[in-house]
Amino acid sequence: MGIEGVNSRIAEIQSRIIALQTQQATTTSARATSTQGSFASHLQGAIASTAPAGKTTYKLNSKGVPEDLAAYGNGKIPETALGRVGNTGHKLWAPAAESLNGMIEDARRDGVEIGITDSYRPYAEQVDLARRKGLYSQGGLAAKPGTSEHGWGMATDLDLNAKALAWMRKNAGNYGFVENVARESWHWAYRPPT
Ligand SMILES: [Zn+2]
Repeated sequence: MGIEGVNSRIAEIQSRIIALQTQQATTTSARATSTQGSFASHLQGAIASTAPAGKTTYKLNSKGVPEDLAAYGNGKIPETALGRVGNTGHKLWAPAAESLNGMIEDARRDGVEIGITDSYRPYAEQVDLARRKGLYSQGGLAAKPGTSEHGWGMATDLDLNAKALAWMRKNAGNYGFVENVARESWHWAYRPPT
């Protein structure tokens, strides 16, 4: 690595340190302990958090939605906070999309095809769905507009055959996805690392 590379790496680490200092107040005590104090421990924290495993964590509100995401409002997530699922037109909150993409790839390596039928759902689409499919509270298949996990870009509806569903039930947790609606084996919600 040339001197420019070293300088840019230092700049990157410094910016990570600033980010970590900002995060510190909101991280768990274990993480905070490792990131406060000396430069060396900041550096260690910065290196750890840029590891490929991805150790970014999120502070959730009482409904389990990351606070930064919640600030946008359900069904009002800007394009910049969304990520594309593979080469489909589907989008999710960017960290969820990234995790889903990794999961789809790994499943394919295991000979399992995971299709996607629904993803982020803007507010107007939630209203439309509730009109067409009825509200859960009335025996239907739609959440009250403004409350759907799809409105946070944190849930996806998947096209799963029996083999794919079995694969998901065994492995999805490793990617942060949980099956959380009893009558909907297609609906998988993303639980970000905290
Ligand atoms: Zn769903």
